[in-house]
Amino acid sequence: MECIFCNIVEKKSEAEILFEDDKIVAFLDIQPINYGHTLVVPKKHYDNFLTVPRNDLADIVKATQFIAGAVKRSVKADGFNVITNNGDSAGQTVYHFHFHIIPRFNEDFTFKPRIKNYGTGALREYADKIRSIISKYKDVYNGK
Ligand code: AMP
Ligand code: ZN
Repeated sequence: MECIFCNIVEKKSEAEILFEDDKIVAFLDIQPINYGHTLVVPKKHYDNFLTVPRNDLADIVKATQFIAGAVKRSVKADGFNVITNNGDSAGQTVYHFHFHIIPRFNEDFTFKPRIKNYGTGALREYADKIRSIISKYKDVYNGK
């Protein structure tokens, strides 16, 4: 399967690489929301956040924290977003897991989705639904 990020990892496609180690590569997004918008990509191919093995997450998050600090400082951003889009509906276009680091400035537009309100009882209903799945899988989470 052809994957643009695997090609970048393997140096078969060009990218403006900012940092790499044995686990991750970080490079500039070619269609930035703000200049300096960076992607942190594990060298191994995983389709999305849910399929990244737990043992690999710490390395990716550690690198993302380090690179986010460098990006923020270098473009003198006021803040930044770290996000990951998962699935078409969430805007994922490259199915090789990655974190976006997006520098943000006080004068930026905000990109908050329209906020919904929970109707009577619905907050509890949604919480119950999620809690029941969590309790079903918590042994898996705890490695039992
Ligand atoms: P997502 O939509 O969350 O899957 O993010 C994919 C990101 O990859 C988009 O922001 C694209 O602009 C970026 N992108 C796609 N191809 C390349 C490439 N060859 N080099 C750098 N960034 C890329
Ligand atoms: Zn890939």
